[in-house]
Amino acid sequence: MACLFCQIVEKQIPAGIVHEDDRLVAFEDVSPQAPVHILIVPRKHIATGLDLTGDDRELVGEIFLVAAKLARERGIASEGYRVVLNTNAGAGQSVYHLHYHLLGGRIMRWPPG
Ligand code: AMP
Repeated sequence: MACLFCQIVEKQIPAGIVHEDDRLVAFEDVSPQAPVHILIVPRKHIATGLDLTGDDRELVGEIFLVAAKLARERGIASEGYRVVLNTNAGAGQSVYHLHYHLLGGRIMRWPPG
């Protein structure tokens, strides 16, 4: 079966898409852990952060620019937001298509659990 997030990118299964461009798609997390919880994913399938290469430098930069744009749009920029990349199971990764979590709208504790 195709990767879950590839299917969302290809619009084969529905998601609350909030941003799309030629390289990235962002959509609402189905199980939000904060008032704002958006996943930012590349269109191309990359399994984990460990699978990024030098060719992906610009892609990673764009992810953080999209995160900042969405944080402003959702009104969480000035109070503060967090961008999280879970890499492999011990860090909590459950979907093996690279995705950055944009979280905000509540106080974020440190260190994360
Ligand atoms: P991670 O645990 O870092 O791999 O994050 C995977 C995230 O994907 C979790 O926060 C899930 O709630 C989210 N998720 C799983 N399935 C879907 C889906 N169909 N649409 C949106 N988010 C999803």
